[in-house]
Amino acid sequence: MELTEQSIQAYAGQRRKMIEEQLSGRGIKDLSVMEVLSRVPRHLFVGSSLRHRAYGDYPLPIGENQTISQPYIVGLMTEVLQLKGSERVLEIGTGSGYQTAILAELASQVFTIERIKTIAQKTKKLLEGLRYKNIIFKTFDGTYGWRDQSPFDAILISAATPSIPTSLIEQLADNGRLVAPIGGRESQDLIILNKKGDQITQQKIGDCKFVPLIGKFAWSEDERFH
Ligand code: SAH
Repeated sequence: MELTEQSIQAYAGQRRKMIEEQLSGRGIKDLSVMEVLSRVPRHLFVGSSLRHRAYGDYPLPIGENQTISQPYIVGLMTEVLQLKGSERVLEIGTGSGYQTAILAELASQVFTIERIKTIAQKTKKLLEGLRYKNIIFKTFDGTYGWRDQSPFDAILISAATPSIPTSLIEQLADNGRLVAPIGGRESQDLIILNKKGDQITQQKIGDCKFVPLIGKFAWSEDERFH
């Protein structure tokens, strides 16, 4: 779709309904999160045949067996990071770029890593077309993190992992926060981790089901099929 003002602002009514029913209706309270989700054109982050379903209460396929996360999960993961605007954020699993755009609206810089080249290229083009200037892209295995840009004030892992790669905890700044789906292949706990000096605390904030994080410090490619 061509990125005109009109195509970007379409579906405003559905966006408003999404905020009311799926976010505030389920306990999301942060006004800045809701304001951003009411503005970012989610319909442009899915294929044209799925556009009319973009604001539904579910994830949707984005090709290569990957999915764009459910709006509520995006809202919840963003809210717990408590972004104030000055943060440098690391995102693992760019995917459609929808969560990336939300983070870019609320933080200073977003470093995002995607392992599938075709997805990374398509998403970079879309986010540049939408005029985001504070997103830095990399196509790589995100379980290594992005050491030369660390530390990060916040880290968001957008794919399910059996445990949090230690490289990512190392790259989290003091007082930093990390949100991730941790667990098995079928379902995971959404957890928020806080780092204060040497102290790491972790709290469950919900249940979720993400596609797997595939990489050196998560699942291997083969295990995907087991
Ligand atoms: N928040 C994204 C979620 C996309 S699905 C969205 O709403 O669109 C998760 C993404 O993580 C997929 O695109 C997948 O290819 C990617 N991924 C899986 N393992 C990865 C890894 N080790 N490094 C980087 N990206 C990874």
